[in-house]
Amino acid sequence: MPGGTGLPVEFAPAQQRTERMAIHALWMTAALSCDGDSFSMTAATSPSIEDLVQGIVPGMPRLLLHHPLLAFENGQEFMTAWFDAAEGKLDPFILVVEGSIPNEQLSGEGYWAGLGSDPETGQPIPTTEWISLLAARAAAVVAVGTCATYGGVPAMKGNPTGAMGLPDYLGWEWKSKEGVPIVCIPGCPAQPDNITETILYLTLMLSGKAPAIELDDSLRPKWLFNRTVHENCNRAAFYEQGEFATEYGSRKCMVKLGCKGPVVKCNVGQRGWVRGRGGCPNVGGICIGCTMPGFPDKFLPFMDAALPVRVSANVARFTYGPVLRIMRGRSMIKASRIPDRDRQVLTTARPAPRWDPPIPKPSPAYEAYEVSGRAARRYRVGAGEQVRVEVHGDRVFLGWTTALDAAAWLETLHDFVGVKGNALGLIIPASGNDIRGDLTWRETRSWLEAATVQPHLVRVDLGALSLHWTGGGADTADGNEATVSSPAFDVSRFTSLLNASATPGIVARCDAILRDARLIRRWSPEGYTEAD
Ligand code: SF4
Ligand code: SF4
Ligand code: SF4
Repeated sequence: MPGGTGLPVEFAPAQQRTERMAIHALWMTAALSCDGDSFSMTAATSPSIEDLVQGIVPGMPRLLLHHPLLAFENGQEFMTAWFDAAEGKLDPFILVVEGSIPNEQLSGEGYWAGLGSDPETGQPIPTTEWISLLAARAAAVVAVGTCATYGGVPAMKGNPTGAMGLPDYLGWEWKSKEGVPIVCIPGCPAQPDNITETILYLTLMLSGKAPAIELDDSLRPKWLFNRTVHENCNRAAFYEQGEFATEYGSRKCMVKLGCKGPVVKCNVGQRGWVRGRGGCPNVGGICIGCTMPGFPDKFLPFMDAALPVRVSANVARFTYGPVLRIMRGRSMIKASRIPDRDRQVLTTARPAPRWDPPIPKPSPAYEAYEVSGRAARRYRVGAGEQVRVEVHGDRVFLGWTTALDAAAWLETLHDFVGVKGNALGLIIPASGNDIRGDLTWRETRSWLEAATVQPHLVRVDLGALSLHWTGGGADTADGNEATVSSPAFDVSRFTSLLNASATPGIVARCDAILRDARLIRRWSPEGYTEAD
């Protein structure tokens, strides 16, 4: 117990941590590397680099990081730790290698990659020599990024350097003096938190506070690489339902654009890139398989879907996918309705005020009409009150009688569309108005007009959806009758927007409405009259 505080070492204040174990990390970017993994690591948050070097994670030893991009020292001063490590004066340490290892037997009289210089000869020291010297003394060796793990881009077919990953260089069965296999954290670049979390785990393991690290056949930490991108992707349901993007910018599954997610082990879909945000397919980019040993050669051309993928996607698209969509759409309609039981409970809990007549319960029942040989419907929503909702070609017409209870009117529209509390229900908050209670046509129209700068044209925003309303009816002197029509209402756009709004319940209902192709025209107590 340091300083006699009675606190375990790891929970002691910083100035009392002097007795805590320290582990060095020698980070080598001098292989064939673009330094992308080091830059990636600066975005780590769980834990961050600062968390590691300050040792703020309870139980962890102090980490003394020797990193060429982050070090204050430079030149020979920076190299001191490396020479000390090579001579066995720095112990224990973790060797971290970023970048692929060149074959110096192919470098002729020069060398492919090196770090520092020999104080006696003044000649550069090749990276391969450092790796041979340091790996023998390291407590653990970590390969960060796909270049260091499996060769990556510098090892592509046709490269002149004979580049390879660390396991190919040291041997796949290689183990450190502590018996730890090479730990591979692939990715191009590696996901930031995957890097820092693995280093944290190794420091805990080397200080006897965590069990031996579990690695898969490709030497990746099992807990980070046990699922495919596809299994973590937020577009996976589209694949299952046979809905595929044909161009970038779509929210559907991108397998036909070349996404390799179904066969790639990677957790960025789940973990994101920075603080859980991002993650290739999640944000519209295809997975190109950058964490895999076969990357990049086995995944080229990146933007082509392989034949088996096309076959499997077409099976989903033309067989079970549409069936699933229909069945789910129906279930969703049912699930979107409040059960009668719940309504009764609500009614009991909130009795109608005594001073007001109870609001008539809207009924979705309607009367069928024939107008000019075409079908029309009239909905009764209360004593003497009616709503007409009809669709004709690319137009939707609505009509209602005077003194109509606006809430009941909307209620009926909800029933008409089939999903309660969605889409049309948003008309109310979108206007910024409160139209609870009874509204006459004049009041309703005022409300509509207040939402626009243009008289007689009202745009009611429903998120991505816009409905354009014009006062198209008989605004009679006594305000007793009116019709609102929507000549600017583009039905095909309406349905495509609904399709994009993840409300298939609405879509299915609207499809049914459009199939009916009913006609609405102006209504008056005398009946319908033809318009345009
Ligand atoms: Fe750069 Fe990618 Fe290689 Fe890392 S794996 S060094 S990010 S090319
Ligand atoms: Fe799978 Fe890629 Fe489609 Fe996501 S975008 S569901 S990873 S194929
Ligand atoms: Fe690489 Fe694919 Fe993972 Fe993105 S999702 S990091 S492309 S393996």
